[in-house]
Amino acid sequence: MKNKKLVMIPGPTPVTESIMLEMGRATCAFKDAEFTADYKKLVNDLKKMLKTEGECFVVAGTGTMAMEMAVANVTKKGDNILIVSHGYFGDRFIDLCERKGLNVDVLANEWGKTVPVEDIESKLKEKDYVAITVTHVDTSTGVCAPIKEIGEIVKKFKNTMLIVDGVCATAGEREYIDEMGIDVLLASSQKAFGVSPGLAMVWAGPKAMDRRKGLGTIPEFYIDFEKWLPIMHDPNKYFGTPAVNLIWALKESVRLINEEGLEERYERHIKDAEAVQAAMESIGFGILADKNCRAATLSNVIYPEGIDDAEFRKILAEEGVVVAGGLGAYSGKLFRLGHMGNIDKHIIVSTISAIERTMMRLGYEFEVGIGVKTYLEMIM
Ligand SMILES: *Cc1c(COP(=O)(O)O)cnc(C)c1O
Repeated sequence: MKNKKLVMIPGPTPVTESIMLEMGRATCAFKDAEFTADYKKLVNDLKKMLKTEGECFVVAGTGTMAMEMAVANVTKKGDNILIVSHGYFGDRFIDLCERKGLNVDVLANEWGKTVPVEDIESKLKEKDYVAITVTHVDTSTGVCAPIKEIGEIVKKFKNTMLIVDGVCATAGEREYIDEMGIDVLLASSQKAFGVSPGLAMVWAGPKAMDRRKGLGTIPEFYIDFEKWLPIMHDPNKYFGTPAVNLIWALKESVRLINEEGLEERYERHIKDAEAVQAAMESIGFGILADKNCRAATLSNVIYPEGIDDAEFRKILAEEGVVVAGGLGAYSGKLFRLGHMGNIDKHIIVSTISAIERTMMRLGYEFEVGIGVKTYLEMIM
C-alpha cells in the first residue's frame, strides 16, 4: 500500500477537509447575497484578528503580488526605501522596488543571522526613508525578524512606513498590526493559513491609507488600494471578479483560527518548531538559523556529511513526505521543512518518522526513533 503524501514544504501547506469542502462548493454569482455577506465578514474578521483600525484587502493573486501591492500603494518614483533582507525573499524586494524607480538601500547579514536592530536604527537616521521592508520569516533561511523591536524603532521616524512581508509568518508567528507599529502587512493563502494558493491579503494601517490618499493616481491598476477599497467595504460593488471559492476557503480557515484561538495558535507554532528542530538535531541534522532567531513556521534543515539532497528527497517522497530544497548558496545543502498552518501531532510525528526511515534507507547511522522520541518528550 502506498503512503499518503504529506506536503510539508513551506507552502502550500496541508489543507484540512473542511477547507477543501468550501473549495468544492457550487460556485455562485459574485453578487449572490450569501457570498457577499461572507466576503464582507472575512475582510472584517481579518482586520479584527490582527488588530488594525485600518483596512484589509483580499484579492486574487500570489504573495508576490501582495508584495507589489504593498509597495505600490505607499511609495512613488524617486522615494527612498530601505530593504532589510534575511534571504531570498527579502532580496526579491530589491528588483521589485528598483523597477518602480525607487532609490533602494539594502541591509543584509550572512544567511541564518538577523540584521542587528541598531544597524536599522542608524540607517534610518542617515536619510529620509519613505518606507522600510522587512520579511517576517524568510523562507530561504528560516530566520524570523524581530518585528516588534523593529516596529518600536520605526515608530520614531514619523514619515517612514513599516512594510512587513508576512507570507511565511502571518497566522503562525505573532503579529498584531497597530500595536507593533506595522503600517502594511502582506500575506497569502497557501502558507500559515493552510488554504490552497491563489489569494493575497494586504492590511494597511491608518498611516498607510493616508499615504495612499496623498499619492493621487498611481501607475498600477489591478493592485491599487483605491480600486479595491469600495469592494472591501461593500462586496456588492464590482472591480474584478472575486475568487469566490477561495474566499469561502479562507473564511473557513479564519473560523478554524478563531476556534483554536490566535494566541494559542502562535504558542502551538513555537512549541512545535522547538520540538521539531530539536528532533532534527537529535538525528544529526543542523539548523541554518541561529538559535535566537529561528522561525516557528518552518525549519531549514542542514544535511549531515555524506547525505545527497536529491537522493534524500526522492526517498523521503517514497516514504510519503514532500519537503523543499534549499535556495541560493544552500541549494543541495539543506531541505526546507514547513511546520505551519492547520497541522497536528499526527502529521508532525509522521513527518519525523518518515525522515528517520529515509535516513535508515540511506544507511546513515543514528539511534532509530530518537527524532520521534525527542519530539514527543518536548511536546508532551
Ligand atoms: C512564499 C513567499 C513569497 C512569495 O509568495 P508567492 O505566493 O509564491 O508569490 C514571498 N515572501 C515570502 C516570505 C514567502 O515565503
